[in-house]
Parts: sequence; structure tokens; C-alpha cells
Amino acid sequence: MSTYLLAGPNLRCWLAVLDEHEQNKYEEGPIFEVLMLRTPSGGYLFDPAGRCIYCGAGGPLTREHIVPFGLFGDLVLPAASCRGCQEVTSGLETFVLKRMLGVTRTKYGFRSQNSRKRRRQDGASIRRIERDGSRTEIPLETDQLPFHSWALPVFNTPALAWQAPYEDVVRDDKLEFRVGRDDAETALEAGGGLHPIEMPVGVYDPQKFTRFLAKVAHGYACAVLGVDGFPHLLGEFVRSGHEQPRIFVGGELDIEEPRPTIYELALGTTLAWNGQRFLGVRMRFLSFLGTPTYTAVVSEHLEQEIELPDHAAYEKPIKVTVKGRNDEVLFRSG
Ligand SMILES: [Zn+2]
Repeated sequence: MSTYLLAGPNLRCWLAVLDEHEQNKYEEGPIFEVLMLRTPSGGYLFDPAGRCIYCGAGGPLTREHIVPFGLFGDLVLPAASCRGCQEVTSGLETFVLKRMLGVTRTKYGFRSQNSRKRRRQDGASIRRIERDGSRTEIPLETDQLPFHSWALPVFNTPALAWQAPYEDVVRDDKLEFRVGRDDAETALEAGGGLHPIEMPVGVYDPQKFTRFLAKVAHGYACAVLGVDGFPHLLGEFVRSGHEQPRIFVGGELDIEEPRPTIYELALGTTLAWNGQRFLGVRMRFLSFLGTPTYTAVVSEHLEQEIELPDHAAYEKPIKVTVKGRNDEVLFRSG
């Protein structure tokens, strides 16, 4: 029984490779295969925050992994989250890591804090579409996982920095995905070779995903600037969301080339179209898979110019070789 679901009513991402219409979609994206993955150790321990960075409460406080452990997050902000907020943020992380990126993470062997639990969830399945339209579930072993590299939304600029009607801001948002060619072929073979195959890509929830991005951005800003170093904008959004979740969080519609990093974080000035300045965090996760870039506005109306420290940009490097069409090596690091 597959627990992976469709992305959403208008964001269908099932890959039906034999279907004429879906074939174009499959061919659209860059096709690549990650051959090797090795992460150097390292990381950074920031000064303790001393109070909850989301709600301001005093102790007892837990440490914050700014980027989740499950994405090789190694930036730690000690004494930064009260128990209540920690429950909320770990719920957001669980959603993104398991429901959105679970298959991707399993496929590439990403670690989990509870590896025994993860192994039990490792099995996944594809669905063969029979002639009468019915679906036959085909369970697969972990090493057979023939899945997409990722499925993630691409966003336009955060509404706050765009200063346009919300509908205009979100008009171009869409879910993107990349599929390995070998993955698709393996899936077809597993289904007998003659039937279209459905490969579940995971659940997408704009509220939870944008709040997750806001959590990372806010945590990073607090770590780099200090919890009192800037007026907070995102704490409440992380804790309880907003009916217009793209107010604070957005991204870039153009997807950059893959880079040999697991994730990238950078704190800097985001300029609105009307010239207003914001403090923003630019984020990219699983950059070696050529993923989209996101931005979150962490603070508005800065009273004075903030001088950014050296570590306002951080990359988690990775040793990786990525192969494209016709076995052409797209890049090799290290
Ligand atoms: Zn709190």
C-alpha cells in the first residue's frame, strides 16, 4: 500500500511515460543521474539564542537545527525553541522530509535520526495502469526505487517584496519535477514494459512548505544576526501560518544549474519593486539535483543598515558526480 499521494488537484505529477501527453512533460526537464554522494563533516555551532526565536518564551529551550538533520543540516542554534514551538516546527520538517521529499531522500540514502523507523518505510510502489483503467500496485525494494529526482514548487517573488495584488504574485507558481531517464525505464520494466506506470511523487502543501522555508530563513537570520539583531517578521507565520502563505516566502521562477552542494543559505538585502528594502534569506536545498531557489523576507523596515558578518552565506558542500543525457558528465566535484 503506497502512502505517497498526488501532489494536488491542479498539480498532478504522476508520470505516465507511455501516455502521449505526459511524454512531453517527461522529456521537458533536464534528465540526470547522480552517481556518487559523499558529504564532508563540519557544521557550525552558533551562540545560544537564550529565548524562543518564534514566540519569545524563556526556558526550557531546545536547540534548533536550522536546516533539518534529515537534509544533512549541520548549523545548530542552541537554546532557541520552546517545547510548543519545537512541536510545530518539527511537524513542518516531518511533512517536508517524509511526505514531500521522502522518496527522494530514500533514493539518495539520506540519513534519518531514526534509521530503524526509516527502513520500515523504505518500500515504495508504482502503479500499473491496466487496459480497463484500473490500477495494479507493484511493490518495489529500496534498491529498485525508480523515482523522480524531486518534485518541488517554483515560486515568484514574495508578495511583500513585490507589492502587487496577491493573485498576480502567485499566478506563475507551479510544481516542477525532474525525473531520471533510467528511473523511468526501470519503472516501465517493473510494470511489465507494456503498460503506463504511475509513480507517486509525494504530497505538496503550500502552507506547510512555505512555513518550513520561513522556519529555516528565520532561524538562520536569528543565528547570524542574533535573536535581538533585527525586528522579527516570521515567528508568527512559522507558528500558525497565514491565509496568503506567499506573503513572506517566494523564490525564483528560473531554475539554476546543479551545484555540488546539499544546501545553500544566504542572508542579504531584498529590494522591493518600489525601492523598499527588506532583509531576506535565499535558500536552496539539494542543489546537486538542480532544484529551485527560494527566498523569504525575514524583516521589513530596517531602522539602520545591518552590517552582515562573514558567515552570512553558508554552503554545505558535497562530493558528487552528475551524469546527463548520453552519459555526458554534467559536473564532477572534488
Ligand atoms: Zn516558542
